[in-house]
Amino acid sequence: MTILLDGKQVAAERKTRIQTQIAALAVRGAKPGLAIVLVGDDAASRIYTTRMAKLAETMGMAVFVKELPAGISQVELLNLISALNADPAVQGILPMMPLPGHLDADQVAAHIQPAKDIDGLNPLTIGLVAAGKSLAAPCTPRAVIAILDHYHIELSGRRAVVIGRSNVVGKPLVHLLLARNATVTVCHSKTQDLAAVVSQGDIVIAAVGKVNLVQADMIKPGAVVIDVGINEVDGKMVGDVDFERVSPIASAITPVPGGVGAVTTTMVLEAVLQGMGHV
Ligand code: NAP
Repeated sequence: MTILLDGKQVAAERKTRIQTQIAALAVRGAKPGLAIVLVGDDAASRIYTTRMAKLAETMGMAVFVKELPAGISQVELLNLISALNADPAVQGILPMMPLPGHLDADQVAAHIQPAKDIDGLNPLTIGLVAAGKSLAAPCTPRAVIAILDHYHIELSGRRAVVIGRSNVVGKPLVHLLLARNATVTVCHSKTQDLAAVVSQGDIVIAAVGKVNLVQADMIKPGAVVIDVGINEVDGKMVGDVDFERVSPIASAITPVPGGVGAVTTTMVLEAVLQGMGHV
């Protein structure tokens, strides 16, 4: 029978642990602080900021939402990041992306002190993750690993196929899987015969943003399938995997919604708490 990899359950278990840790800190008079930097009026960023802030507050963290006008200058934004870097009440800095077009996101990412870089954006953090010296990768790939760990899915020696090579999901995921001794193949839009490559995977992770990209005839019977994709069809959220047809073939599969996305915000909290940004 196919196991449904339930992100909500993974998140709930980890949140209980986070709450216990925050309560222990509170006894010592300490409170972890999350700063969210929201520039302009991007609707998705605003929704995510509100959700993230509410969750962090509910869990007992201090939350500092820095709302900035879309027209802010690069220097003003960097000055704000500098102030957050220096603020002892802030353990993690999360800038909402994308930034308005006139701002240089790479420079902003590089300006975040690595110790507070909870979403693994700074090139120094990225380099250390790539070198296998740090696990401070962005929150989404860490959520994928958290789900695999929760269900005790062995990675060592197994073939993992990652579809998608973005800097926030696909590439850091490759490094996290390598750190667990998986044999990793990464696919992208120029990959030839995607089906043949994906069918080699004991573990297949789709992070593309294309409805039904992963079809049943691409999946090796018994493979574990993780769907990171978020797409909208007729007002409903769906992933990259044809869930109906793939799930009878897979040994385990994440739903969308309720899979990876359900765990990502929890990974933000963990990064703040555990100093995951420390290099
Ligand atoms: P992205 O930056 O657009 O990257 C998409 C990747 O997919 C690229 O590497 C692209 O290849 C590859 N690709 C495009 N078409 C392909 C095809 N036909 N076959 C194979 N590969 C193909 O997206 P992203 O930020 O990584 O996000 C990926 C998906 O995950 C999106 O649906 C996003 O909404 C979702 N997401 C979910 C969460 C979560 O918490 N669940 C978090 C972040 C993102 P090239 O490099 O060659 O262009």
